[in-house]
Amino acid sequence: MKRAGFAGFVFLVCLAVSLSLVAAQGIEDTPLPPDATQSPIITPTPLPKPAPVHVVEQDGTVVELFFNSIAQGQVGLVHVHGEGIAGARARLFNNLVDFFPIDGDGFYGLLSAGMEQNPRTYDLTIFAWYEDNRRVSIVIPVEVVRGNFIRQEITMAPDRAYLVDAEIERGELARLESIFSQYTPERLWDDKGFQMPILNSQLTSPFGAFRNFNGILQTRHTGWDIRTTMGVPVMASSAGVVAYAGRLDIRGNLVVVDHGFGIYSTYSHLSQIHVTRGQSIVKGQIIGVTGDTGRSSGPHFHWEMAVNGDFVDSVQFTETWLP
Ligand SMILES: [Zn+2]
Repeated sequence: MKRAGFAGFVFLVCLAVSLSLVAAQGIEDTPLPPDATQSPIITPTPLPKPAPVHVVEQDGTVVELFFNSIAQGQVGLVHVHGEGIAGARARLFNNLVDFFPIDGDGFYGLLSAGMEQNPRTYDLTIFAWYEDNRRVSIVIPVEVVRGNFIRQEITMAPDRAYLVDAEIERGELARLESIFSQYTPERLWDDKGFQMPILNSQLTSPFGAFRNFNGILQTRHTGWDIRTTMGVPVMASSAGVVAYAGRLDIRGNLVVVDHGFGIYSTYSHLSQIHVTRGQSIVKGQIIGVTGDTGRSSGPHFHWEMAVNGDFVDSVQFTETWLP
């Protein structure tokens, strides 16, 4: 009886999978390029765990900082542990950051500095609480250092010059902010970390650049640009749930992936989107293909990461070890 029940379950699962495949094919108007059918690509070797840079111990609570300072637009990892610890969080620049548990290894939290955070020393307050209701708070000075950002003059072609508009830009950033504020208190990324969304990527325009569009709009570059042709498969940087799949004025066809604990990745200017909102995806899964939609002057790929609502340097992020 048990076996029959299991077989029935397997059949139902297979039926559900084939039905969803039919549904997915039904909404695709263009066939996938041959490359897009390849199986997910997983980074072969996850980053090794680094040694902490600073260790602070107080009242049985150990705080390890995996950074010396945080540059504007970058992230810094913190580890908190102690006998019987039940939870931890941190406050930095009036942001509260929840820490995530790792089995038998206490709690980890990812701090972020926005690209416009004033460079100086701030108080980082770590709060830890224990099974016996003990509470510990520890204040550690953390320095934010100036980011290394370039300046760019960009000319948009007349047919898309209407997108060089402060109102459109503000509206789109507000839209993204509201997506990033949907906080999932769950670690959705996998233990192999984050990877570049396009294989053999050639990075072009850097994160954080001060940009002047057509001599009239001053703005910041919120991600990295990757040189590409049309129709190149774009992979999810890590596992997560699709938080947005649709079209915005500046980013064009856009996918946003929620990785949990306030970490998001975005994939812009796509010609096709192959996922839908609410869908769970694995690391390396192809979520769409490159294009030239939105405020773009030729096929390229714009890749963003956001942490705690701040856009952060996506390349530095993938080079940061995460448990
Ligand atoms: Zn870009």
